[in-house]
Amino acid sequence: AQGLATKKLGYPVYFFKETDTTNGRLRDIAAGGETEGAIAVAEQMTAGRGRRGRPWEAPAGSGIWMSILLRPNIFPSQASVLTLLAGLAVCQSIEEETGLTPSIKWPNDIMLNGKKLVGILTEMECEMQQTHFVIVGIGINVNTTEFPEGLMDVATSLYLESGRTFSRKNILQRVLLNFEKLYMELLDSHCSFAPFLDRYKEKCSTIHQEVKVLGKETFFAQAVDITPEGELVVIRKDNGKKEVVFSGEVSIRGG
Ligand code: ATP
Repeated sequence: AQGLATKKLGYPVYFFKETDTTNGRLRDIAAGGETEGAIAVAEQMTAGRGRRGRPWEAPAGSGIWMSILLRPNIFPSQASVLTLLAGLAVCQSIEEETGLTPSIKWPNDIMLNGKKLVGILTEMECEMQQTHFVIVGIGINVNTTEFPEGLMDVATSLYLESGRTFSRKNILQRVLLNFEKLYMELLDSHCSFAPFLDRYKEKCSTIHQEVKVLGKETFFAQAVDITPEGELVVIRKDNGKKEVVFSGEVSIRGG
């Protein structure tokens, strides 16, 4: 926690030289009663996950593989707002630390030059209408020089896009600071996403793009807006109808 300017996030830090997933580790730690703000950071993750159990490649020493424990007084249905805010915080932090300008692919990815730079995976432990805790997992490809075969076309790193290497510590500290600010603001606004909408939209590349929505149903659509609740508004290509797409239940291709 040395050098942290945060009040809450990053206390304590659980550091792992190698672990399966930081989200999984922190979930166990949280279940044992650890307080809000604890983070788990790994030098290498051997079984990183994306949504729906998809694998997340986390080569040793090349990125920031981190999870943050939060205990917000929030309904489980509102927790996806934390994914959006984490995306905003990471996007701002990368811009501030590197001068590069990534964009957010709604709801949970950060892209640079059309490739995925950051993945965010929010998981929670809840019962009925009560959220016990939320784990926000963030994977940032910082100095990664190469990815496994199949990923070279879809994944990128700050190094691959700029030819420069960056301090993972500085970026991590900046992410915690920016995320903490947004999180405090969220709690002050009774967990409403509305105060963040303009800032989020400014960084979101999905709006105005053609997207393929993969949910209960698969269809092509034009993304047109984000609602004050953080959902994506699209106009379907097949019937011209407006639809609101909820994060969590869909994947977007394109955008
Ligand atoms: P979708 O792309 O359908 O919206 P998603 O954004 O939710 O899915 P995740 O499930 O969060 O994607 O992430 C897993 C996917 O990310 C993998 O299937 C793989 O394509 C890609 N991936 C895995 N490791 C990395 C990495 N280090 N950097 C960038 N992309 C990665």
